[in-house]
This record gives sequence, C-alpha cells and structure tokens, in this order.
Amino acid sequence: MKFALPSYDQALKMVGDYVARLGGFQPATECVELGQASGRVLAHSLAADSDQPSFARSTRDGYACRAAEASTHAPLAINGVIRAGDPPSGSLPPASAREIMAGAPVPNGADAVMMYDRAEATGAAKSRKVRLLQSHTLKPGENIVARGAQARAGDELLCAGVALHAGQIALAAAYGYTALNVFVRPRVAILTTGDELVPVSSSPALGQIRNSNAPMLAALVAAAGGEPWVLPAAADNAESLDAALAQVDSADLLLTSGGVSAGKFDLVEAALTRKRARFRFTGVRIRPGKPAVFGELPRGKGADSRALPFFGLPGNPIASAVVFLLFAAPLLAALAGSRETLPRFGLARLSLPVDRHGKAGFTRFLPAFCDFGAIPGHPPQLVPVPSHGSGDLAALACSNCFMVVPEGTRSLEAGSLVNILLL
Ligand code: AMP
Ligand code: MG
Repeated sequence: MKFALPSYDQALKMVGDYVARLGGFQPATECVELGQASGRVLAHSLAADSDQPSFARSTRDGYACRAAEASTHAPLAINGVIRAGDPPSGSLPPASAREIMAGAPVPNGADAVMMYDRAEATGAAKSRKVRLLQSHTLKPGENIVARGAQARAGDELLCAGVALHAGQIALAAAYGYTALNVFVRPRVAILTTGDELVPVSSSPALGQIRNSNAPMLAALVAAAGGEPWVLPAAADNAESLDAALAQVDSADLLLTSGGVSAGKFDLVEAALTRKRARFRFTGVRIRPGKPAVFGELPRGKGADSRALPFFGLPGNPIASAVVFLLFAAPLLAALAGSRETLPRFGLARLSLPVDRHGKAGFTRFLPAFCDFGAIPGHPPQLVPVPSHGSGDLAALACSNCFMVVPEGTRSLEAGSLVNILLL
C-alpha cells in the first residue's frame, strides 16, 4: 500500500515518534577498559569516590599567603617552597608567604596565591621577602581551588546515556575508574542489493560497479555508535532477497541499500512485504533520497520479540548517506542507549550564491564543505561542492556536510546563514 509522500519534517517526526516509543528500552551492558571506552555510551551513572580536589590546590605558580596581608603590599618573609606532589606542609606563620607550584597543596593559614608576575621578591637566601606589586590586589580564594569544589564524595559525575569522549574519559580517570560499564553496541545488518555489484576486491566487468555502499554504510554505522554486520550483497531477484532477509532476525537494525526505486528490478519493498513488514513511510520529499523506506519487521515470539526496525536506503551513494544521517542515525543512537541527539545540524555562512531550481515541495541536501576555522569570530564558511548527481563519490569525498535547502527555497545569496547536516 502506497502512502502520500511525507515531507522531510513529517518523516523526521515519524522516526522521532518511533524513537520516543523505544523510551524505556535498555540495551545489554558490558564492561570495557577506559582505553577502549572512547565513542561508547555509559550504561550506569558514575559517582565521585572522594572530594575533588581532595586538598585545597594552587592553580598557579607563586606564593601562598593571606590575601589581607598581601594587599597591604608589605614585604612578607618567604617561608619555604611547596612542590606539586608534596604532602600538605605545616601552617603558614603570620606575615609570611610560602612559594608554591601549580597543583601543590595550599598550607593552612594561607587563603590565596600571589602569582609570580604580580610579586616582587627581594633579599637573598634566608632573608628573602616578597610583596604584592602596588598595581594589584589579592582576594581571599584567588588562585586556589578549595577542597571538594569540583565534586563531593558521592556526587553524580556522569549519568547513564552519556557518550564517552575525551572529557568524560579524563573525568572517569581522575576518580579512579579503570573500566566502565557501557551499553553493548546495536548490531546493524547492512544488506546491499543490485545485480551490478561486485566485491571491492574484484575488477568490475563493463556494466558492473564495486560495492562501495557496504563499506560506506559500515563506516557511518560505526560513527553513529553501532556495530556493522555486513551481509553478502543480494541480487535483484526474489529468491536472493528472501534468502538474505531470512538471516537478519538477530540484528537490532536493518539497513538495505538499493532496490527501493520504481525500476522493474527494484524488488526490496516486495521482499520486505513478504516478511510481513509494517511500513511507516515509503518515500520522502527529499532530494536526494526520495525512495527512502522506513518500517519494522515482526520477529518471533522469543525472549526478544521487539520488532526489527529497518530503513530501505536508495542505492545512489549520496542519497544513501543522506537518508542514513537523517533517519537511521537517530534511531541507531536510541538503540545504543545514547542521549546524544543525532543528526547533528549547524549553521554556516554561504560563501557563494546557490541557484538551483529543484523540484517544488522537496527539501534538498547538497554536498558541501564547511570550513570551521575560516575567519576567527565569524560563523563557519560554507562552499557547495559541485556534484554530478547523487552517484558522485568524488563530490561526497570532498564534502564534510550537506547544505540544507528548505522546501520552497529556490536560490540563496552569498552571505546567507544556512543549515548544514554534518557528515
Ligand atoms: P538503485 O537504488 O538500486 O536503483 O540503485 C541506484 C544506483 O545506485 C545504481 O545504478 C548504482 O549505480 C548505485 N548503487 C546501487 N547500489 C550500490 C552500491 N552498493 N554501491 C555503490 N553504488 C550503488
Ligand atoms: Mg538496484
């Protein structure tokens, strides 16, 4: 049964509603060493095992002192030196200052650290004194992180569902976590289809092409937090497609590539229908990517009777990538237990005018290169990448995003702020 084609926004909402219904879904968990945790999703919240910092710590090289005394600019006797790593030293006598390095424990009695470049030291050896330069004052607490200022023992540091990147891994390390409980990555079956496909390692005969979508989709899946499971390519006939689809029950998500357009040998939808697929959309008003299909396949009545969600991606590589990023990546992130919202959009300033008359009522996604560091203090600069259609892999390889041209927009002037979908 065919539906009226939803708009891009409507299709996004259909996927969003599906994701929302997954709400309580809890993926299985596993424990990984900290060094292997990058890109994974935290399964349990992390608590602080101790106050952090566990001692009042200097953030600067200089002199630990009493702010009120230093602010009189009177010379203070220099009373020893504290290095980072030293145990806490004795109390600071009145009218004195103790040299201290960044990261070292501030002695009792001191309430601020005078930075070297705001201090003037005079005298030699044991009679050395230091005073705060006239042009500066010092406030209590300055250049000190108080004990427990970053966290108190028992505080929640990170919550479940957080994607682990450098910052989260550093935080976990600081509290002594050598391994973390993470969600098992969802297994994503990738079924490419097409009589014209040969393996990447083969030389295509005339009329054939290498199967570039399989490794492309595997890379996209891995980047979005899934575990790619690349199946052998299926041919454009019912037997081959049925045999391939018979293998995918254990997947968490199914991606097919090709065979969803209106061609005589586009047989994927029919094969999905034979597996009793429930279609949510069969086509979306986007370019490229119009033939995109979304739905779910019923599964057996076993322990995991959750339906298997699937996306039928168009065969054209750029279309396939766009549909993956727009619709499959958010669902995949939800299956991965992640709170991180995908797809990632941004704003960029268009460097060149764009004047492409597309089909009315379609949202377009044009391969583009965004220079994020072009002009400091200004938005990222965007240059559309010329492309010879949605099979142009060279254009895809020169791009790091897609420029979003909303429905009804015919041309955009240089300098306009435009939405980009990050690749
Ligand atoms: P289809 O969606 O099956 O009509 O395929 C559209 C076009 O995409 C085909 O003519 C191929 O050129 C290309 N294509 C399909 N599948 C792949 C693939 N796995 N890798 C690279 N290109 C593909
Ligand atoms: Mg095909």
